[in-house]
Amino acid sequence: MKGTLYIVATPIGNLEDITLRALRILKEVDLIAAEDTRQTLKLLNHFEISKPLISYHRHNEDVKSEILIEKLENGENIALVSDAGTPGICDPGEEVIKKAIEEDINVVPIPGPCAMINALIASGIDTKEFTFLGFLPLNKKTRKEKLKEIEESEKTIIIYEAPHKMKNTLKELSEILKERKIVLARELTKIHEEFIREDIDSLMEKIEKLKGEMILIIEGKKIENSNQENMLNKLSLEEHYKYYEKQGFDKKEIIKKIAKDRNVSKNEIYMNFIK
Ligand code: SAM
Repeated sequence: MKGTLYIVATPIGNLEDITLRALRILKEVDLIAAEDTRQTLKLLNHFEISKPLISYHRHNEDVKSEILIEKLENGENIALVSDAGTPGICDPGEEVIKKAIEEDINVVPIPGPCAMINALIASGIDTKEFTFLGFLPLNKKTRKEKLKEIEESEKTIIIYEAPHKMKNTLKELSEILKERKIVLARELTKIHEEFIREDIDSLMEKIEKLKGEMILIIEGKKIENSNQENMLNKLSLEEHYKYYEKQGFDKKEIIKKIAKDRNVSKNEIYMNFIK
C-alpha cells in the first residue's frame, strides 16, 4: 500500500499555535520533509519529537520530489513542513504535492497557521472576496502589471513583503492607491504583534523604524457609481424621483435619469409612475 503525504502547517511565531493533530502526525509519520531541517529540528525538540528529517527546499524541489514520491510509493508516510506556516503558500511544497496527486498518492492537509489569513481577519478590511498576491515580482515589467492589477482590483489585496523592501513597495503603492485603506500587519502571533491601520503616507513615515515580518492588506477599489445605482434602485419610484427633484432636475431629465439607473426604457417609467 502506498503511503500518505501530509501537508502540515506549523506556527508562524507562537509555538502554542501547533495543533494536536499536527503533533500526532509529526510523531506518527516515517519521515519529515522540511524546508530547513535545522529550523524544524528546533520545533521538534521543543515538542520532544524525534524523527528522521530530509531537506526539501526551493532549490532541490525537483530532485527531492522524486525521492519523496519513491518513498511514498514504497508505503512510507511523510509529513511536509516549511519553516513557518502553511507549506505551499509562498513556501516549497507545490511540486511534490502535484507529483503525488499524479501518482495517485493520498495527500492530506493538516490545517494550522497561515500568516495571510490571520492578517486579513484582524485587519478590519473586507474579507468577503480577496486576492492573495504573495510577494510582488521583482521583474520590472511583471511588477508593473501587478501594480496595475492592485490599482484596478475591487477585491481586498494581500501582499507579503520582506521588511527591507517594504519602504520601496509602499512608495510604489502610494502612487496608485489614493484614498484606499491599507493595513500593515507585523510580527503576527509574536510578542510585538501589531496592526497599523493608518494612511499610506503615515505608514511610509514609520516604516524605517518597523522591524520583523510584515504583510499588507489593501482595501479594494471603491465602485462609487454602481454603489450609488444600487442605493437608488432600492428606493421606490417616488423616492427615486424626489432624490433627483431635490437636486434641481426637471421632470424630463429625472425620467431619463431614473430609466438609466434602472436600465429600463423611459416609457416604462412614464407608464408606471407619472400620471
Ligand atoms: N508559508 C507562510 C504562511 O503560511 O503564511 C508564508 C511564508 S513566506 C516565505 C514569509 C512571509 O510571510 C513573510 O515575509 C511575511 O510577509 C509573512 N509572514 C510570515 N510569518 C509572519 C508573521 N508572524 N507576521 C507577519 N507576517 C508573516
